[in-house]
Amino acid sequence: MKKVMGHILDDRQKQVSVAGANERTIDCNKASLAGSVSQRACVFCGSRVVLYPIVDALHLIHGPIGCAAYTWDIRGSLSSGPELHRLSFCTDLQERDVIFGGENKLYDSIIELVDKHQPKAAFIYTTCIVGVIGDDVESICRRVEREKGIPVIPVQAPGFQGSKKDGYKVACESIFKLVGTKNKPYTPAKSINILGDFNLAGELWILLEYYKRIGVHVNATITGDGRVDDICNAHNAALNVVQCSGSMNYLAQMMKDEYKIPSMRVSYFGIEDMSDALYDVARFFKDDDMMEKARELVKEEFSRLIPQLAWYKERLTGKKAAIYVGGAFKAISLVKALRLIGVESVIVGSQTGTTEDYELIKQLCDEGTIIVDDSNPVELAHFVKEKHADIFIGGVKERPIAHKIGLGFCDHNHERKEPLAGYEGMINFAKEIYATAMSPVWKFTKLVD
Ligand code: SF4
Repeated sequence: MKKVMGHILDDRQKQVSVAGANERTIDCNKASLAGSVSQRACVFCGSRVVLYPIVDALHLIHGPIGCAAYTWDIRGSLSSGPELHRLSFCTDLQERDVIFGGENKLYDSIIELVDKHQPKAAFIYTTCIVGVIGDDVESICRRVEREKGIPVIPVQAPGFQGSKKDGYKVACESIFKLVGTKNKPYTPAKSINILGDFNLAGELWILLEYYKRIGVHVNATITGDGRVDDICNAHNAALNVVQCSGSMNYLAQMMKDEYKIPSMRVSYFGIEDMSDALYDVARFFKDDDMMEKARELVKEEFSRLIPQLAWYKERLTGKKAAIYVGGAFKAISLVKALRLIGVESVIVGSQTGTTEDYELIKQLCDEGTIIVDDSNPVELAHFVKEKHADIFIGGVKERPIAHKIGLGFCDHNHERKEPLAGYEGMINFAKEIYATAMSPVWKFTKLVD
């Protein structure tokens, strides 16, 4: 344990631990230490990644063009219909607007965009500079809403107000303003809302197929391939099934308080968690027929997958992985999925994990695995070298860390192009880990101290 602490700032020591019976509980759920160069993104970015996949809404960023460029097309977030979300609109605030205010520019921009694109709703994001100059974005949104007759929702997300996690909360509050505002003529009794899948590479469509096979109606997808009208009707579902709980717990809780909709936490990564998700939903509806169909589906997929996974396991056994992702729940699924193909997780960290998440990780991992909350490039690079990891699994900001130290990288976040969820996803994941970890190119790279 002493060895891993060498490169950690004093005030961050308690946010790092190792798996093992006598190790202490990790410190987490706190603001990033100033100057530590956290891997976390800003509040605005947090709100943007959650709302972005609502494909028939207008997304307008009130701020400098840099904020828009930073989050432009930030996720795959595939759509089966409109693609308005992929256009990144911005008021492009300049020096003059900072001095005299940007309210007129904002009003004119929303009106022009609504007239041109006829969106179902508009999300207006405030950024750091708007938090500083104090434009009254709320009143402009109300005015346009009255004039144009669509929901125009201010997303109050100045970047400096906290971290990405605070942005998730802001996004949930914005979505909640739509929930309950419309009733579709009919919503089947056995219907769920899927919360926290963002359809990065089409995984939502895989899940829809599974749920259809076991007889569950999906009422709204929040927010992957999301539609404003479905979200407005989300209060009529019987259950919220929440993945990526870091971003969607707030919404689930608000819907529980207001509409008495229960929620359950699931993960769709790895075959164990995917199967549990289907069984848990069937159990919730107390439906024997649904449970039987879930069992059949799992059996069929297992018999198809297990021989293929065995092939990968044989070749990957002994490889070591470093995991650093946004939500800890995803990290837990990754540890299990990697174990299935013979890969040991030697570093497991997240940006936003809770004490319960980290305790679970500690129990799940082999003794000595480094567990870290809200890490930074210096720590991660040192951990990876110390533990001799063969592959790094993370998001867009972890990719350069891996490549700089000559390590294979697997994107498990915004930019991936292959679905990694569900049973198909597990095979894609195994293929990617195999292709990356076994690539001969690593013979020509060396770790630099
Ligand atoms: S930190 Fe501020 S300036 Fe930077 S992207 Fe976030 S909102 Fe924009």
